[in-house]
Amino acid sequence: MIQERAAQVEERICRACERSGRDRSEVTLIAVSKTKPIEDLREAYRVGMRCFGENKVQEITEKYPQMPADVQWHMIGHLQRNKVKYIVDKVAMIHSVDSLRLAETIQAEAAKHQVRVPILLEVNVAEEESKFGLSVAEVIPLTEQISTMKNIHIQGLMTIAPYVEDPEENRWVFRQLKKLSVDIAAKNIDNVDMCVLSMGMTGDYETAIEEGATMVRVGTGIFGDRVYRT
Ligand SMILES: *Cc1c(COP(=O)(O)O)cnc(C)c1O
Repeated sequence: MIQERAAQVEERICRACERSGRDRSEVTLIAVSKTKPIEDLREAYRVGMRCFGENKVQEITEKYPQMPADVQWHMIGHLQRNKVKYIVDKVAMIHSVDSLRLAETIQAEAAKHQVRVPILLEVNVAEEESKFGLSVAEVIPLTEQISTMKNIHIQGLMTIAPYVEDPEENRWVFRQLKKLSVDIAAKNIDNVDMCVLSMGMTGDYETAIEEGATMVRVGTGIFGDRVYRT
């Protein structure tokens, strides 16, 4: 099943790229494997997935030693400062930086491990009460502050769009994140790149690609429904 689903996602990504005149190589597919057992991740790996997204520190630390070393782990969930130390040298990117204090902790832990951590700033474009992330107005000042941290490399922006039935309803969200990234790029801030736009999930990744996503985070579309046990 994972093989068939992954092939269908791949096909849809290709078509969205064609529609928007983009090259397939501009878009990285992140297989969001949260809650899924290691067998599922291995199957996804066998059919070619190399980037995996998780939203809990504990799941990354458990799965990390059980998967091949060429897997790239993406932290996409809310990150508590006291847990940064467990993943700072294991993840390829942290998508969910939304405060100065969190960035300071990442900087301190990254310096200890002598690594430079690629991060994205999470923006709550739609200003949903229930979601983490910066307001649009907070992004540029925070970018400037974090840019001085030597062990952090800001590579772009991330957003979690609202849950909607029709992905067209989220097009404005993706457009606004893209516009913000273009505005920041134009400032040419040292130590800041705006090459990554992490936006789009199972319900709306094609629309996100049309609006410039360079990373799409697809869970259900690849692994099927998640079962949360309490
Ligand atoms: C769970 C999750 C996803 C994937 O969601 P699906 O709708 O299953 O594709 C993407 N991004 C984040 C931040 C998530 O927590």
